[in-house]
Amino acid sequence: MTSDQRNTNTAGGDEPETGITEGGTDGAFRDVLSRDHARRGKPPVHFADMTPEERIAAAKELGLPKFRVSQLANHYYGHFDVNAEEFTDFPAAKREAAARMFFPELIHEVTRQVADEGTTIKTLWRLFDGSLIESVLMRYPTRTTLCISSQVGCGMGCPFCATGKLGLTRNMSAGEIVEQVRIAAKMMRDGEVAGGPGRLSNVVFMGMGEPMGNYRSVLSAVRQISAAPPEGFGISARNITVSTVGVVPGIKKLAAEGIPVRLAVSLHAPSDQLRDELVPMNRRFDTTAVLDAAHDYFLASKRRVSIEYALMRGINDQAEHARLLAKRLNHYGDNWAHVNPIPLNPIEGSKWTASKPEDEQRFLDILHAAGITATLRDTRGQDIDGACGQLAARGKDLVAKDLAPQKDVAA
Ligand code: SAH
Ligand code: SF4
Repeated sequence: MTSDQRNTNTAGGDEPETGITEGGTDGAFRDVLSRDHARRGKPPVHFADMTPEERIAAAKELGLPKFRVSQLANHYYGHFDVNAEEFTDFPAAKREAAARMFFPELIHEVTRQVADEGTTIKTLWRLFDGSLIESVLMRYPTRTTLCISSQVGCGMGCPFCATGKLGLTRNMSAGEIVEQVRIAAKMMRDGEVAGGPGRLSNVVFMGMGEPMGNYRSVLSAVRQISAAPPEGFGISARNITVSTVGVVPGIKKLAAEGIPVRLAVSLHAPSDQLRDELVPMNRRFDTTAVLDAAHDYFLASKRRVSIEYALMRGINDQAEHARLLAKRLNHYGDNWAHVNPIPLNPIEGSKWTASKPEDEQRFLDILHAAGITATLRDTRGQDIDGACGQLAARGKDLVAKDLAPQKDVAA
């Protein structure tokens, strides 16, 4: 069996999976659909990319019986361990071959930046093809959250977002996504994060990329993160958040999976007129379509949906915007959504900046008065560009050629 044949539950196929059909009118989505992405090689196939049957077949190739796969799963998901050379419960003569077959290095640490007294750690990773991505680990008194990337760059073109400025290079494989989680879980267990040994409790898909543009790999990752060991890391699906720009078919598909993950929808504007400008994807799936889908997700999952709202000074942070947002959410009933306003993290060269504190407060007050729960999201890691929308894998001093072209896809 070739590695290509095994590569069925990663991005897979000749076409890049986007979850989005052709039909963008202004070029902002052409990037997402470009066939160039498919021509780039695929990441090595990893244990986390294989179905149970594929794992058994690969083991057989090495002359190993089925039960050895269960041992590997126990090492990987139960102990966050890929160092097969040291698996003492494994036949010594097969360890090296097993390491090569199942655990190729998919993400290589390039740099680690630390902030907030060692409780926020942003890691820059290099992938097999030189692509750079980032993840951010944030430890709080009662939980530890890892923010992970699902694509190299992003093709959705939101003009206020650093990742959006990069354009899309490619989808990440399930293995590349899951490895971010395994390594963070191991760091927590081994006490590498200030505060001593602990447990990774939450995962949010709020790093680089649009999860719904890489649906299959993201879903595979969600299952592996949430399944109990030895099938997965055992991080409750309720503690996993998938954040989307509002790709309606993706939201519907996710609702039908019946997994209790939390959905976050990046709304950022209460009207189509304004959202068309801030979120180009709104021209494909408008505010009504997105809110309908978000509310359906709430009905299907019984989990409150998070509405993400980056407050931009003078743009979307005025009283009229808060009132319209409240009206549009209350249209569907009470208590189904939770609004997460976040002061914009200004990115280089952007004309937008963060709201004034008094405007932020007024925005919250108006939502609260309308019976809507809303909490200002904290902006951890701002000083290391680890905050939302600031992930742009700035590795220019390292390998400039590996960076995605710096084009403004929203222009
Ligand atoms: N593509 C997905 C998930 C990654 S972005 C999405 O858009 O939802 C994660 C969150 O960060 C989104 O809510 C996004 O709108 C927000 N974000 C992007 N740029 C930001 C910025 N400069 N300041 C604050 N939030 C930002
Ligand atoms: Fe992509 Fe999300 Fe950034 Fe928009 S906000 S460009 S969808 S990562």
